[in-house]
Amino acid sequence: MQPKPNIVHLPAYQPGKPVEDVQRELGLAEVIKLASNENPYGSSPKAKEAIAREAANISVYPDGASIKLTEAVARHYGVNPDQVIFGAGADEVIMMIARAYLRPGDETVMAASTFSQYRHHAEIENAVTIEVPMKDGKHDLPAMLAQVTERTRIVWICNPNNPTGTIVTRDELESFLTGVPSSVMVVLDEAYAEYVTDPAYPNGLELLKRFPNLVVLRTFSKIYGLASLRVGYGIGEASVIRSINPVRLPFNTTRFAQAAALAALEDQAFVGECRRKNHEGRQVLKQAFDRLGLDSFPAHGNFVLVDVRRPSTEVFDALLRKGVIVRPGHKGYPNHIRITVGSPDQNGKLIAALEAVLREDQVPRA
Ligand SMILES: *Cc1c(COP(=O)(O)O)cnc(C)c1O
Repeated sequence: MQPKPNIVHLPAYQPGKPVEDVQRELGLAEVIKLASNENPYGSSPKAKEAIAREAANISVYPDGASIKLTEAVARHYGVNPDQVIFGAGADEVIMMIARAYLRPGDETVMAASTFSQYRHHAEIENAVTIEVPMKDGKHDLPAMLAQVTERTRIVWICNPNNPTGTIVTRDELESFLTGVPSSVMVVLDEAYAEYVTDPAYPNGLELLKRFPNLVVLRTFSKIYGLASLRVGYGIGEASVIRSINPVRLPFNTTRFAQAAALAALEDQAFVGECRRKNHEGRQVLKQAFDRLGLDSFPAHGNFVLVDVRRPSTEVFDALLRKGVIVRPGHKGYPNHIRITVGSPDQNGKLIAALEAVLREDQVPRA
């Protein structure tokens, strides 16, 4: 047997290390995970209640089209229900878009250091990935625009960008969208949108009317704290969403995910509280990095990419021995680690552990 030749070299996704594994392997009593941008405050209690209520229907297929949730999300954002498509996480929406739009040899443009799944799915479709170098950890939109040709099918913009945490501003995005031919799809991944507090941040949904080639991705995994349930969505022009729908699996979101997401969406007080605490956490981390003489990129999501001036995998190992899991090994940033903003207690432990690792000089400088 022979798999498709373009997928044999592809790695399976490497998730953050699970807390239980580290506890067992290193015999540590307490381990904190700041590696996967999960919400340290969990999720709305209303989401858990909704799941408990749904347990009675465990043997019944979910509503394949997520009608109630679709209506609620559409109402929440002031769009029509036919403009929304759900996936098993925004990850699945990325896969569906690639599957629906990329043919072998088509070109797709993205930033050089961004969310890995855009390239991953482009390669599965045998498309050609054009990676554009970042500028100070930011998407270089004029340089990306210059790479758009008649072969380009999709441009991916991650805003805030994972892993750098930077944003492109409304002006930057609007001039990019104005320059891109309307035949090119622009996917704006806003997985962390709800965490952004900078007024220069563009709300992709407000741009949909003017730019019908735009598809905005959002998720319930991050600020809503429902990562385990796998539910995310894309919003775009109705005809574009309709064009993606044929590749969606019939029952790709579960009853529990739909019920929990619906309840979580209604609890905007929880979202606001998480945004506020995350904003404070970002400032605490920034102050600590400044004190330790470490440069970090302006963080707009719930994570920070910080230059530890030592090989990131070694700092990762040293922090792991102290019971803190972070994320090393980001393309183009060999000396940076990505740290999820945790609770005040977790942030304090991370700062103490990082300070000890640097002070003890456990890791030689790069
Ligand atoms: C986490 C993340 C996603 C996908 O999250 P799901 O859990 O699949 O909804 C998408 N894009 C970016 C940039 C992310 O960081």
